[in-house]
Amino acid sequence: MFMNLVNRVRHSWKLQHFLVKYCSYYHLRNLYHYRQRYFFSTIEIETINYCTRRCPWCPMSQYEREKKHMDPSLYRKIIDELSAMRFRGWIDLFLYSEPLLDPNLSEWIRYAKQRCPHALVRIDTNGDPLTLEKLRELLTDGLDSCLINQYGAKVTPRVQQILDALNPSERSRVHLKIRHDHELGNNRGGLLDHIEKVDTLSLPCVNPQVQFVIDVDGNAVLCCDDFLSQVVFGNVRNERILDIWNKPDYHCARQALARGNRNINDLCRKCNGRIDPTSRFLNALI
Ligand code: SF4
Repeated sequence: MFMNLVNRVRHSWKLQHFLVKYCSYYHLRNLYHYRQRYFFSTIEIETINYCTRRCPWCPMSQYEREKKHMDPSLYRKIIDELSAMRFRGWIDLFLYSEPLLDPNLSEWIRYAKQRCPHALVRIDTNGDPLTLEKLRELLTDGLDSCLINQYGAKVTPRVQQILDALNPSERSRVHLKIRHDHELGNNRGGLLDHIEKVDTLSLPCVNPQVQFVIDVDGNAVLCCDDFLSQVVFGNVRNERILDIWNKPDYHCARQALARGNRNINDLCRKCNGRIDPTSRFLNALI
């Protein structure tokens, strides 16, 4: 019931716009919980760094990376820190990866839900390795949201069968996104040169204000578009998440980008992401 309501809110653009524009709830909530007006509402953790596909809108299609798994002790350190700060946003167990390929995914979900009961755990999958049994197992482990991307503007019969077999409670936590081949999205900080660069140099970007992104090696990178970990503010192996978040250079980068100055590093200078602050800030609400 609650998740149904949340999903309706997430998909209502008008309602999102209203909430962001007229509701200071986000700031008050952050001040109350974290003693800061701006605080990330999503943490993205790259537990593995490989995928089954090479989609044209993803840098995986152009860059080779050595296959890696996150060190389990590093994952637990991250979750333990989130637990200590009573984190209540989204924990995304993916970045540039297909999370269902991670043999430890069930364990990661259970650990996150056990240590961070106020947080919501989410994965995005391309659906390739998905089976009904696996999906049910993850939902039983405590997965709060599973977004299944489907390509070529259609749902495959296999995925449709899985969706049809879910009961209403399971179905409320599983979402579908139909992707069209012409939707290339943004150029990932200039890494995808076949995507047209439009002038975004003075467009505000709130991505780094609402997300904290950790790559498979533990680097805290500027944003989810930083595929090659070019702009790094610290490493959670040997630093605390809060200490990294509060570093002056990280703070200055967030401020500059929120004010519409992307001329601060090569990644942002070349990025053509037109960020919709409403959907990002809505994450803070739920
Ligand atoms: S401008 Fe682009 S690369 Fe820079 S933080 Fe925003 S989304 Fe990321």
